[in-house]
Amino acid sequence: MKKFADVIVPLPILGQYTYAVPAELEGRVCAGIRVVVSFGKKKYYTAIVTRVHEEVPEGYETKEIVEVLDEKPVLLKRQYDFWQWIADYYLCTLGDVYKAALPSGMKLESETLVVYNPEFEADSILPEKEQSVLDALTLDNEQCITQLGKITGIKNILPVIHSLLKRNAIYVKEELKRSYKPRTEVFVRFPQTIQQEADLHRLFDALARAPKQLAALMKYVELSGWVRPGSFLKEVSRKTLLQESGVTPAVLSGLVDKKVFELYHQEIGRLAKGVLDTVPLNPLSMAQQKAYEQIIGSFATKSVCLLHGVTSSGKTEIYIHLIRQVIQSGKQVLYLLPEIALTTQITERLRRVFGNRLGIYHSKFPDAERVEIWQKQLSENDYDIILGVRSSIFLPFRRLGLVIVDEEHENTYKQQEPAPRYHARNAAMVLASLFGAKTLLGTATPSIETYYNALQGKYGLVELTERHQQIQLPAIEVVDIKELARKKRMTAQFSPLLLQKIREALEQKEQVILFQNRRGFAPMIECRTCGWIPKCKNCDVSLTYHKGLNQLTCHYCGYAEPIPKACPACGGVELVSRGFGTEKVEDSIKEIFPEARIARMDLDTTRTRTAYEKIIADFEEGKTDILIGTQMVSKGLDFDRVSVVGILNADSMLNYPDFRSYERAFQLMAQVAGRAGRKNKQGLVILQTKSPDLPLIHEVVTNNYRSLFDEQIAERHLFKYPPFYRLVYVYLKHRKQEVLDQAADVMARYLRQGLGERILGPDLPLVARIQTLFIKKIMVKVELQASMSKVRAYLRQVQRAIAEDERFRSLLVYYDVDPM
Ligand code: ADP
Ligand code: ZN
Ligand code: ZN
Repeated sequence: MKKFADVIVPLPILGQYTYAVPAELEGRVCAGIRVVVSFGKKKYYTAIVTRVHEEVPEGYETKEIVEVLDEKPVLLKRQYDFWQWIADYYLCTLGDVYKAALPSGMKLESETLVVYNPEFEADSILPEKEQSVLDALTLDNEQCITQLGKITGIKNILPVIHSLLKRNAIYVKEELKRSYKPRTEVFVRFPQTIQQEADLHRLFDALARAPKQLAALMKYVELSGWVRPGSFLKEVSRKTLLQESGVTPAVLSGLVDKKVFELYHQEIGRLAKGVLDTVPLNPLSMAQQKAYEQIIGSFATKSVCLLHGVTSSGKTEIYIHLIRQVIQSGKQVLYLLPEIALTTQITERLRRVFGNRLGIYHSKFPDAERVEIWQKQLSENDYDIILGVRSSIFLPFRRLGLVIVDEEHENTYKQQEPAPRYHARNAAMVLASLFGAKTLLGTATPSIETYYNALQGKYGLVELTERHQQIQLPAIEVVDIKELARKKRMTAQFSPLLLQKIREALEQKEQVILFQNRRGFAPMIECRTCGWIPKCKNCDVSLTYHKGLNQLTCHYCGYAEPIPKACPACGGVELVSRGFGTEKVEDSIKEIFPEARIARMDLDTTRTRTAYEKIIADFEEGKTDILIGTQMVSKGLDFDRVSVVGILNADSMLNYPDFRSYERAFQLMAQVAGRAGRKNKQGLVILQTKSPDLPLIHEVVTNNYRSLFDEQIAERHLFKYPPFYRLVYVYLKHRKQEVLDQAADVMARYLRQGLGERILGPDLPLVARIQTLFIKKIMVKVELQASMSKVRAYLRQVQRAIAEDERFRSLLVYYDVDPM
């Protein structure tokens, strides 16, 4: 019987495609492996097989699979179940999930750009096809795969490219990450086969007639501190070994060929110093021990537990103890952190305890490294712990026992763009349940939804109310800046009290953090004469003034233009800035404290991971006195010498027309306040606001989460928001306003036919035009009791009907399920 394979292609199309399995590939095609297929006109893609069968597809002639790329599945059964859940729940395609899940190097397609790796040295002669691709790349070191196929005349080039990638001879080019230069180094170690002293003696004998290789081997033994089997070894870099032993790279390659050494790549952390010695765990305090036991107790009956502990209460210490327990039982742990909270600080803390059983998965790592981790997770020698960002939920696991979602309230766990617009916290819980594993959510400021679920008994709830070693929570002083501004007593954005406290801190060699949740110099500029405000030509937003760049920039599409000399509307030359961002704060502070060492941390100063780590390292080492930043400075960083935190303008966080703005403002302020005063003294937070009487301000001052929660949950109930209702936003985009308006009306009408009152809109979203496309939004609000799967089915049905309408041919429709 002829065989067929259903595959997922990395394209946003619904459904799967069926290809014929050619007889010569029959034994090699199975579910979960990657194959090369052609799709559309002469385009090749890496697809993933989901099923092999003998059902002849009807209505079209199948094409054949071109090539098989894997011997064993790269997509495991449970991962595939997980992908299906994501596609279904978040209303996207399996192709979308596939694209989000796999690193670029594992899903090559005709258009993928590859670049030559100038550091590549072949150990042996390359197969002819591979060599000719490399030759083509030396002429022009960045080309797309289709073009390479043309130049070399190789018909089926994807497997050749895959093989070159595996050798690290080429890289997949990543447009956005160009500036990232990983600090990685090549290290040397013994392979698994060399464990015993006898193995070592055998090597000495074998190399007796190769004095240079022998010298390198002996140097390695010395440098690594190899004493007896199983002893902890120091890591030895290839560079150090070459230097210290004085042998040539060729000698070392010879040893690698003989399998005496193996090479591995590793990012060199600031603190790593190449030692993989692990240290024992800190014993837990009484309060922590109690929390630990409560968590374990709650897992006996519930699959999710919330650990609500104030900043610095030792949540991370508790995670570490739980992780140890889980890996001792032979299971794996996935530890999720928001992107900006995944710092060297936390990495080192875990690495000290768990050594090389810890793998780190970061979206800013080079693609090749992510491929390596993926492959390692499929091997017998997989990591016990993965510490990673949002996308690490897609890694293959086989023995998952625990998922930790730290800072569970963070809205960056929600992917906004592109699809799948998944929430990593919620998706992680589903992933865990597929394994029968447990999920621990940790935070000092729970999201309203999570806390509600905990109070309802759906999740376990464990609270830690004291900081470790009874270090006091910071004192918070509220300053009414409206009143001060009226009396003209403000200096730039600073109240007299804040300035005085900054001065005192500087005198005592302590550090200061200033928080303003806006980057750039000013949110906008305005013509003093006629009120004209410059707007982006692609989007419906005002441009942000960046003084350092001398530019107006759009924070939605990146469009930038120079500052006009005069107002284009009235010719007036007086353009004034309104509001302020971190850049302006930096300017003013430099003027007031010219002798202070100042750094700024926001999206603009941290484009690369290295820049980001350097700002943190400098601050940690006391090379910076004042750190100014956006919410980035609030993220789980642990500094010792911060005595003053200034929140410059609490009100700017409250003016968003969003039902979560109070919740977020509280979270941000509580988190940033938590940076103040650690080891030896109580910190001070100066909270500047124009509305000192708001209940929210009082809740921040008293760190009264419960009061915030009660207030917010009442509002959510009243206005029909989550957790009482589920939301889905339907977005429609089109280049032409008239077509969009019509489509939105038609779609809303269809939706109302099936869902009635649950449909609101169409409306204009906050930003109604982005990158030249007009946007409309329809809101779906569904009561908890209703069946979401029926709602989703109906949404899909309506979308199909709209797609068939000739008038709306190039209309884009997508969904945001559980929007944040
Ligand atoms: P959280 O995660 O709640 O913010 P951490 O676990 O980071 O708290 O703890 C704050 C600080 O206190 C860290 O520097 C940590 O090393 C220290 N600490 C907390 N618990 C202990 C403990 N049991 N033994 C030693 N140090 C601890
Ligand atoms: Zn004007
Ligand atoms: Zn724009």
